[in-house]
Amino acid sequence: MSASPPRRAAGRLAVTPSLAPRDLARPRPPAMAWQARIITLFPEAFPGILGLSLTGRALKEGRWGLETIDLRPFGIGKHRNVDDTPAGGGAGMVLRADVLDRAIDTAQRGAPEDRKDWPLVYLSPRGRPFTQAMARDWSRAKGVTMLCGRFEGVDQRVLDHHRVAEVSLGDFVLTGGELAAQAMIDATVRLLPDVLGNAASTEEESFSAGLLEHPQYTKPAEWNGLGIPPVLLSGNHAEIDRWRQEQAEAITRARRPDLWAAWTDGKPN
Ligand code: SAH
Repeated sequence: MSASPPRRAAGRLAVTPSLAPRDLARPRPPAMAWQARIITLFPEAFPGILGLSLTGRALKEGRWGLETIDLRPFGIGKHRNVDDTPAGGGAGMVLRADVLDRAIDTAQRGAPEDRKDWPLVYLSPRGRPFTQAMARDWSRAKGVTMLCGRFEGVDQRVLDHHRVAEVSLGDFVLTGGELAAQAMIDATVRLLPDVLGNAASTEEESFSAGLLEHPQYTKPAEWNGLGIPPVLLSGNHAEIDRWRQEQAEAITRARRPDLWAAWTDGKPN
């Protein structure tokens, strides 16, 4: 799935007009499925975990597409150097602006100019924290380009020049952007129509309503001397909904005062 310069995006669908009954019977994926383009020194890290389970099946079915842009061939000289020592001194190496610029230009070829339709992001601990709301926005775009850093990071000039938005997976430092990219793609792709079997499950789960999810139980009805809250076995759906709502509120209040404050203000994240 590596490309340098890029091949056609993996998972792209051909449009084959047909009025056969099977086409009318089930929803068809869009002619051009949602695309993730990843600029990375480690294209072999993809699809990684995204190749498994629901995201993997959807990828194989062309419901979304993945293209890696290997940074190495854009490097300088015989050794295709992509990095150099930090200006001003200090430890480690920084990815070069000229090398990244060529890779970004290649990645953006054919992508919509409007960043709402196609976000261009650098995975970075300095970035805006990634949220469910961002996953939702990205899932409504046509695709996303992600730049995975390594070493000490990337030359600031290329971020400024290309107006790259920095997005963080959380307040910790990873070795590279690849794991962060996979986490964000996973969260985004599962919101695409037809990727999860049960679309309702994305509406009820944590964050979608601004609250953390209520506890879940399944069989056996008694395990290790522990039962399931009787209301869940009552068959009374109004009661069950009320119980779940109360639990969600109590858990959010106890664990995430920030989310609770936003929710009670009527401004869920
Ligand atoms: N020196 C940098 C960290 C570099 S870590 C700093 O202190 O900000 C190397 C690469 O890993 C980064 O370029 C970035 O792409 C990725 N990375 C590290 N932590 C990350 C996080 N929390 N979220 C997203 N990407 C991260």
